[in-house]
Amino acid sequence: MAALLSGSVLLLISLKCFPDSAISTRGFLFGMVAGLLYANGFEYCLHRFLLHAGHGIFSEQHMVHHTTLQSPDAARYVNFSSNPWGVVALFCANAVPFLILQWFFHIGWIAGVFASFALYYMAFEEIHWRTHMGGWLPKWLRPAARHHLLHHARGTDRFNVFLPILDWVIHRTSQRAKRAK
Ligand SMILES: [Zn+2]
Ligand SMILES: [Zn+2]
Repeated sequence: MAALLSGSVLLLISLKCFPDSAISTRGFLFGMVAGLLYANGFEYCLHRFLLHAGHGIFSEQHMVHHTTLQSPDAARYVNFSSNPWGVVALFCANAVPFLILQWFFHIGWIAGVFASFALYYMAFEEIHWRTHMGGWLPKWLRPAARHHLLHHARGTDRFNVFLPILDWVIHRTSQRAKRAK
């Protein structure tokens, strides 16, 4: 709910408060693709560099999720953010650079970024929950669940939770670098 409301408010701000930014369907769809790639990169960086930093409150909380998977109270620690205000703060922090871009450069496709970011965030929390708690997932999402369970098995790679775009890019880049040595 916090993600849905935050994303909707940002979408409205983007559409209503920036009349210079003419929005077209094509522009909105372009913004959605840009938002998807941004959300994927943000998810990867947050998970890899903050939640697996080995120190700090966010890392400690995430390690509780990693260590309690087989315990009876595992469900309490599955959500990446259990505090709705944390979700609102996350959306606001991520929105600032995009709102500045829209303000200064009158970019019309920014609204699509907010819609896409919110959908991505809700999908990733929902799929993550179902992966661990055994909820229904369509067949085509089962490899995504496996991808995340392998992250739990090793804890050193596979930082995208359900859509391993940046995982794949970084894997390919490091393989190429190894071959070049
Ligand atoms: Zn997990
Ligand atoms: Zn993790």
